[in-house]
Amino acid sequence: MKISCIGLTKTCFLLCVSGCVVFFLLLPWIKHGFLKAHPLLPCNLTCHSRYLQPPLEFVRSSPHSHNGVFQGGKKPSAQGQDTAYLQEPLHLKDLFLAVKTTKKYHKRRLDLLLQTWISQAQDQTFIFTDWEDQELRQKTGKQMVNTNCSAVHTRQALCCKMAVEYDKFVLSSKKWFCHLDDDNYLNLRALMNLLSAFPHNTDVYVGRPSLDHPVETLDTVKGDGSTSLKFWFATGGAGFCISRGLALKMSPWASMGNFISTAEKVRLPDDCTIGYIIEGMLEVKMQHSNLFHSHLENLHSLPQSSLLQQVTLSYGGPDKRKNVVHVAGSFSLEQDPTRFKSVHCMLYPDTSWCPN
Ligand code: UDP
Ligand code: MN
Repeated sequence: MKISCIGLTKTCFLLCVSGCVVFFLLLPWIKHGFLKAHPLLPCNLTCHSRYLQPPLEFVRSSPHSHNGVFQGGKKPSAQGQDTAYLQEPLHLKDLFLAVKTTKKYHKRRLDLLLQTWISQAQDQTFIFTDWEDQELRQKTGKQMVNTNCSAVHTRQALCCKMAVEYDKFVLSSKKWFCHLDDDNYLNLRALMNLLSAFPHNTDVYVGRPSLDHPVETLDTVKGDGSTSLKFWFATGGAGFCISRGLALKMSPWASMGNFISTAEKVRLPDDCTIGYIIEGMLEVKMQHSNLFHSHLENLHSLPQSSLLQQVTLSYGGPDKRKNVVHVAGSFSLEQDPTRFKSVHCMLYPDTSWCPN
């Protein structure tokens, strides 16, 4: 009995010692987790590609991929391109899209936009008008902004609307302010591509000039009117965008009614006043982009192959009803005189009213 008890103690002792030896031998493995179940082998691939190929909206494409978009303006810095993957992604919700309209165009122009591109960015689009239209209010809710500006095509009335657009944008937390007229088609994907290319937090004013030279005017805002100022401006009829940081810098000349008084001092239209403030006062250069289009251009000559890469399109113009983009869509000119429906169906073929 005594002997077997001693034997048992010996066996226990040996087992304990060998257990400890095994434990010490395995210690580094346990420490490095080699004994744990291997975390999803395929994740090696997914994680790898997640860092190497961020989602499309994450990638800041090189400015060179925009086919001369930045011609004439300052190119995004090399640093911006280098840090491309580290930049914050741009989402649709980062945009503030302001559409300027008026009472008489609610049906004639705005309905088409609501049916087409605005339907893809309802929460981002704000409609600035001059009449409390119950039908439009029902359709768009709080997205419709009654500016209480007068419903006339005068410099003052248009500046009044721009002032309300600006103030509403500043109050929002959006990253980009884009202004559009109610005869513009906005290609949201092309816009996102364009804006994503700009390095984060830089001062950006991008659009298309309607003139081939800068405007020259007397400096009646900063100076006493004895010196002149030269500046470019993006025509409102083609749409333009301004980054939030730059918009905030415009505040002394643009916020809380100051936009109207600045425009009065310089006696310039709304879009021109924007250029005056940005290039003239803030000395920030406008980025000239040929992806924005107004009906001041010959729209028919836009190559069909590049149509879907354009940021904005337009139609008509005074006495130029037939000035529309050339697109071979499933709608005839009678069914789709502006060609916006045809373009929209090419961009969003799943839309319920688009032909199969
Ligand atoms: N507009 C306005 N009030 C008016 C007339 C026009 O707000 O009394 C707006 C119109 O809805 C459009 C922009 O101003 O968004 C430009 O108008 P339009 O296209 O008729 O003229 P354009 O200057 O392009 O020739
Ligand atoms: Mn127009």
